[in-house]
Amino acid sequence: MKQSFFALAVLALISFSPSLAAAPAPEQAMIAPQICPEPASCEISATEYHPLNLVRIECPDKAAGEWARKHLTEWYGILAPKVKTSTKKTKLGDEAYELTTAKNGVEITAQTLQGVRYALYSLRQIAIPKRGTLKVEGWIVPKAAIQDKPALAFRGIHICWFHEREPWEIERLIRLAAYYKLNYAVIESWGTFRSEVAPWYGWPDGTMTKQEVARLKAIADDLGILLIPQINVFGHATMSRGGAGKHAVLDLNPEYQPLFEPVGGWNWCLSNPEVRKLLTKLIEERLDAFGNPPYFHIGGDEAHAPSCPDCIGKSYSQLFLDHIKAMNKVVQKKGARTMMWHDMLLEKGDPRWKGFVHNGTEETAAGIRDFPRDIIICDWYYKEPKEVYPTLDYFKGLGFTTLTCPWKERNGLKSLVKAARDGKADGILGTLWHHDFGQDMLNIYLTLANSAWNAGGETSYLRGMFHHHLRQIGWDMKNTDPKRAGIFREELPEEPVLNN
Ligand SMILES: [Zn+2]
Repeated sequence: MKQSFFALAVLALISFSPSLAAAPAPEQAMIAPQICPEPASCEISATEYHPLNLVRIECPDKAAGEWARKHLTEWYGILAPKVKTSTKKTKLGDEAYELTTAKNGVEITAQTLQGVRYALYSLRQIAIPKRGTLKVEGWIVPKAAIQDKPALAFRGIHICWFHEREPWEIERLIRLAAYYKLNYAVIESWGTFRSEVAPWYGWPDGTMTKQEVARLKAIADDLGILLIPQINVFGHATMSRGGAGKHAVLDLNPEYQPLFEPVGGWNWCLSNPEVRKLLTKLIEERLDAFGNPPYFHIGGDEAHAPSCPDCIGKSYSQLFLDHIKAMNKVVQKKGARTMMWHDMLLEKGDPRWKGFVHNGTEETAAGIRDFPRDIIICDWYYKEPKEVYPTLDYFKGLGFTTLTCPWKERNGLKSLVKAARDGKADGILGTLWHHDFGQDMLNIYLTLANSAWNAGGETSYLRGMFHHHLRQIGWDMKNTDPKRAGIFREELPEEPVLNN
């Protein structure tokens, strides 16, 4: 449903008031308050505001009041509204909330702390400082009535921790995802995790230390988003982008070459028993570092054909199947479910997948029928919208929980989320890759969050709104560095260089 506004009615009344009767005022151009993601049902005034002095919360979870007080104080300091709570049960779903703002205060109703969080994220987006003063002297909120709940239960984003990325950037991406009501974030280390069981596994100066992961997990838990770790157990074993020519293990540790396929080292060597031993230890360590979450992503995409005599000499289909099953067992033993990219499970050249991503060979595609059905298939497709999504139908038809995974093509993204809402997939895992800044970051976050949450409206957000939300997160992170503000580190491009 569209966000609707009391403002038009207010303007109509003014137009017909006696003092203006002689010359009806033209309808004034204005920017109405916006909320991302757009609520399921929302009426909000652009002109009638009330002081933000009191928030009454009705929620059976006793932690909700304390959470609200803590965060309202974080956002508004000594000007924070008073919080009153009651623990009456509601009939709302786990992530749903109702929010009304009126003269006598703000009312929030939710069944869980998560619902209260989401209500307060919406409230924060529409509250503004009292007007007419030099500095903030109080807060006001527009008159509003919101009933809200998500369209999809699994609303995830995949975040890459590249070597160049600093912890504050990852923190900001996580905070923004939570603020936009996404509830899962997969964190893929690109050689940046500092393993203690294999200190040579990754770049020696990686910033993803166990302490840093624990700090980010605490923030994510508090904000209501679950972090899911990822280790690539098949291709992408270089932990560097394919075109970069780097290998986060072998460039600095040539003695570990037997673990990887000889041509390029892109794949793990699936015949080498040391690989399975090592990956077992690494998965266990990573799950422990993330506080043993219920999911673990094993990557599995874009692998090359084998190039070592041991792998070539065996049934690669069986090697692949045995490997994935073994990795899945390790994840299961830790109480988690395996997530995996889909493309090696579809044979290249199979006409059924024309126009979609299919990187598998006959050998890797054959394995899927014997895959344990608790593995979650993450089906990625980054292009323009299609009428039908046969790959989603295929994995769902085989009995797999399937997530659809778009990237930055906004119409394709919306179309995939619609397919998920129509039951073609069980949720969405958006991806950022190396486009986690600038206009692409803005587009991906707004489109992903809005389409995963609401009933499918076509909201045109102003980029100023997004910039303001990023700024609010900067305040929460106590940012003092101009480079950490906005969507780019530098406002201007580097000086042009002479080409001749
Ligand atoms: Zn091999």
